Amino acid sequence: MKYAEFYQRSIVTPEQFWQDEAALIDWNTPFTQVLDYAKPPFARWFVGGHTNLCHNAVDRWCATQGDQPALIAISTETNTERCYSFNELRAEVERWAAMMQSLGVRKGDRVLIYMPMIAEAAFAMLACARIGAVHSVVFGGFAANSLASRIDDAKPVLIVSADAGSRNGKAIPYKPLLDEAIALSSAKPSRVLLVDRGLAPMAMVEGRDVDYAALRAAHLAAHVPVTWLESNEPSYILYTSGTTGKPKGVQRDVGGYAVALAASMKYNFCGKAGETFFATSDIGWVVGHSYIVYGPLIAGMATIMYEGLPICPDPGIWWSIVEKYKVTRMFSAPTAIRVLRKQAPEFMRKYDKSSLKALYLAGEPLDETTSSWIADELNVPIIDNYWQTETGWPILSIAKGIEDTPTRLGSPGLAMYGYKVRLINEINGQECGANEKGVVMVEGPLPPGCMQTVYGDDQRFVDTYWSEHDGKMVYSTFDWGLRDADGYYFILGRTDDVINVAGHRLGTREIEESITSHPNVSEVAVVGVEDKLKGQVAVAFAILKDANAATSEQDVMSVVDRQLGAVARPARVYFVTQLPKTRSGKLLRRSIQAICEGRNPGDLTAIEDPASLQQIQRALRL
Ligand code: ATP
Ligand code: MG
Repeated sequence: MKYAEFYQRSIVTPEQFWQDEAALIDWNTPFTQVLDYAKPPFARWFVGGHTNLCHNAVDRWCATQGDQPALIAISTETNTERCYSFNELRAEVERWAAMMQSLGVRKGDRVLIYMPMIAEAAFAMLACARIGAVHSVVFGGFAANSLASRIDDAKPVLIVSADAGSRNGKAIPYKPLLDEAIALSSAKPSRVLLVDRGLAPMAMVEGRDVDYAALRAAHLAAHVPVTWLESNEPSYILYTSGTTGKPKGVQRDVGGYAVALAASMKYNFCGKAGETFFATSDIGWVVGHSYIVYGPLIAGMATIMYEGLPICPDPGIWWSIVEKYKVTRMFSAPTAIRVLRKQAPEFMRKYDKSSLKALYLAGEPLDETTSSWIADELNVPIIDNYWQTETGWPILSIAKGIEDTPTRLGSPGLAMYGYKVRLINEINGQECGANEKGVVMVEGPLPPGCMQTVYGDDQRFVDTYWSEHDGKMVYSTFDWGLRDADGYYFILGRTDDVINVAGHRLGTREIEESITSHPNVSEVAVVGVEDKLKGQVAVAFAILKDANAATSEQDVMSVVDRQLGAVARPARVYFVTQLPKTRSGKLLRRSIQAICEGRNPGDLTAIEDPASLQQIQRALRL
């Protein structure tokens, strides 16, 4: 089928379209209405239908492929590998469900999961889904104050955690952070269930803290049936990455999410039951929710959970996993591929990667240099996909499962089925024509799988994301982009990152893309800095591939001159060895910009390494 036709059907007759896709999952009770959009922008999908995420991810497959691998947890931090078949996974999840119930967790209660990338984290998520508890996974290792604010937001009855995470062979104790966070929060959980990995000592709080191993032993033979949930009951809360400010608590449903994931596994990720999927993200992020835990399992695929760095014990580690488990589809982020590009290529060339059929990348703009490099190394299609925590699955990409539409360098692709993507000129509110820059928006109702609301704050959901354009409610992505004459989109940066140089509006992304085409630049951040004369000027912070090679500020500027013209030329190019990023690997441009303008760097709860900001400060002093 032609993708254009498929897409049109999803937009013109969405109810018919999604009714058909709903057959991809099991329903215990059929829905009576495909879509209820009586109260825009709140969309309710598959009204009256009862289903369960855990049933679709686990139990459903036990019947046909119970002995096949479901979850493969690999840690190069502790040098462990554990493989669970669908049957074994169900047994573990049932134990977890029974343990949670014994600790007082009931349907609708929140369970906060603050865990490293170990199998137990996935068991806990699936157990919540099984009994209808709402999980809120908080990225492991987040500082106490970030964790405290999420505790207060979700008011969990139970927190699931572990003694420690591990990074580069070094234990990162979680328990002291957790205790501090609970002390800081006003919503105290009554119970804390702790997995002891033997990495760090834990001081247990009498009456509150429970040892997982002991409790599990009491529930070895547990059987906990699936709790069937109405499609629109909440499944989980997950916070956005905090790149542009205070994170927002995204709430998702059950039925719409299951259907959207099943559809995306079929049409985007082309996953087949029995194959292996490897997403290199973390369960603390949306990619981890959708494409480590739920998506692959809903498709009957084995999924890999990897704890460790992409370069330890050496930069071949991911590819050794691909070889060993015959991974067919892999999902990663441009930032990780850039890390690999800096390493000697021998490591990845050592392994047999012939099982791999495609590599999917998301999270940040994919520059042409990185994309071409990894395409050459792997000799498989590289498929960019653009989406957000809010949407749960791709907005823009290429649906290879429908048609082998060509990809276009620098573009994440076409609007995905179900998304009525609109580009709106911020200044006059008009729809943009071909190659005209505007804000990427989606006309309501959002398709299944997208956020239902901001947890506990419907008004914030409406106020933050929605506006009216020609009588329609429109959702803003807060990203800026353009669409070419063939319908391919290009993301030019965040709306906050648009630079206005002497009346010319430029996306930081365009300038960054140009700078990374310099052969000795491995990474760059461009921000707009206030300027008396021009309003704003672009300032670049670049990391060199080879710091000893002679690359000057002027060299970098002339690349931009040649490609984009002098108007886009950064006023200054500073060389650094590290850029400030969020824990999920996104550039914190707002903090760089604030420092450049002599302001406070803002909310830094999501920052990976605060030392990176000192480099910016130091560079500016030169
Ligand atoms: P916050 O919303 O808290 O500021 P965040 O937007 O970084 O944080 P996420 O939901 O993790 O939180 O990231 C989604 C954003 O990442 C998108 O809005 C977009 O800016 C960027 N992004 C994701 N995928 C791509 C891609 N393929 N190309 C370009 N940008 C992308
Ligand atoms: Mg965002």
